[in-house]
Amino acid sequence: MFKKQTLIAWLTLVAISVMPFTALAQTQIKLHSNKYSIQDDIKLGRQAAQEAENQFPLLRDENVRSYVENVGRRLVTGIPSQFQHPEFQYYFKVVNARDINAFALPGGPMYVNRGMIEAARSEGEMAGVMAHEISHVALRHGTAQASKAQKYSILGGIAGIAGTILGGPGVGQLAQAPFAVYLLKFSREYETEADILGAQIMARAGYDPRDLANMFQTIERQGGGGGGGFLSDHPSPSDRYARINREAQYLRVENSAGRDSREFAQVQQRLRGYGAAPTMAEIQRSGQRYPVGEQTGNIPNNPPTGRVSYPSNRYQSVSIFNGGVNVSVPNNWRQVNEGNSVWFVPEGAYGQYNGQAVYTHGASFGVAQTNSRNLQGATQELINSFAQGNSNLRTSGGYSRSSMSGRTALVSTLTNINEATGRPEVIRLITTQLRNGQVFYMVAVAPQNERGFETAFDQILRSVRIND
Ligand SMILES: [Zn+2]
Repeated sequence: MFKKQTLIAWLTLVAISVMPFTALAQTQIKLHSNKYSIQDDIKLGRQAAQEAENQFPLLRDENVRSYVENVGRRLVTGIPSQFQHPEFQYYFKVVNARDINAFALPGGPMYVNRGMIEAARSEGEMAGVMAHEISHVALRHGTAQASKAQKYSILGGIAGIAGTILGGPGVGQLAQAPFAVYLLKFSREYETEADILGAQIMARAGYDPRDLANMFQTIERQGGGGGGGFLSDHPSPSDRYARINREAQYLRVENSAGRDSREFAQVQQRLRGYGAAPTMAEIQRSGQRYPVGEQTGNIPNNPPTGRVSYPSNRYQSVSIFNGGVNVSVPNNWRQVNEGNSVWFVPEGAYGQYNGQAVYTHGASFGVAQTNSRNLQGATQELINSFAQGNSNLRTSGGYSRSSMSGRTALVSTLTNINEATGRPEVIRLITTQLRNGQVFYMVAVAPQNERGFETAFDQILRSVRIND
């Protein structure tokens, strides 16, 4: 005989036994230990974003950008509260590149390739890739990994910027840095975490988390994308597909009403109206740099000849780093902004070799973040990082003391073989510390047997005014 109480009792029993199981089944993710501060994430991400935007052409289509931004904002609201760092500023830009990929930088900058938007079969698939990338940021994987690696993974990235000032093919691998560091190196564990948290974020933001899994099939059907970023080679796409779908069983999609696919279809149609986008590899080979600022010379495609005029003894005062530094340089030298460093060079002294900017004569300025807080240690880190990309680079002698802008500076002398000309060259590195603990440096380069530049370098060094 049917008894009401029995049914209720049975239902309660089911609820008790099933609910805690469901709650437990959603994978709990924890933050890894991290010796960097939230502010470090933001700062590193900003520097990397600047470098990324110097190297990769952004798609200049406000419709597409704002659409992607809206999807991104929606996903950010789905980040579980324990991983929401209010200081982070998430923003989303579209790179005009064909590869099916996306990457995010510490602190929130994210770059979505046009090819990824074109390949996705739905807004959900596109959102899946973005949710995965947002998860790397929210879990602070970039700096967590650098904490583990202890040494130069992050620094190497920044050194990549610094490294380009010395030019040379060896720097090639780091030329995309610092964001390359984040693209290439996440462990299997971090990738799995980003997939799982990505699925959770999707559900909380109103997307079906299985669309993240589906995107792997879409990519495979289209013959893969580009390396790095979202498309890490580990775990395998089929493992990731299975793992995400397993997680999805325990996730409830919240507020899913209202996502319509028309906007996504319109955006795809708009993108198809443009010609084929170049691949990331083509963009890097072409050596194009974006954008080129005012009074900035483009770096010519041919190698530098190394035949240059002597420095004029008339000087002009120039403000660099948004007014943070003033310096006087010979008025027959030209300013070239490259990544985060600024070069002043005579005509004939700069160009490209193997797709990398190379300089034979001139002075450059840059800022680097180091682990070491004392000047000598910081300088050594900087030299080590330069040497990573320049196998012919040698220190010659120790440090000598000097001053720059009224503060203590160290002068280090290095020798190198110029990649483009094959001539031996002398590099002087002058380092000092900024109030915020970063290292500000000047690099002066000239061939070993040319003496005429010493006076100019001394005068430039004496003219430096740091306003921090
Ligand atoms: Zn990833």
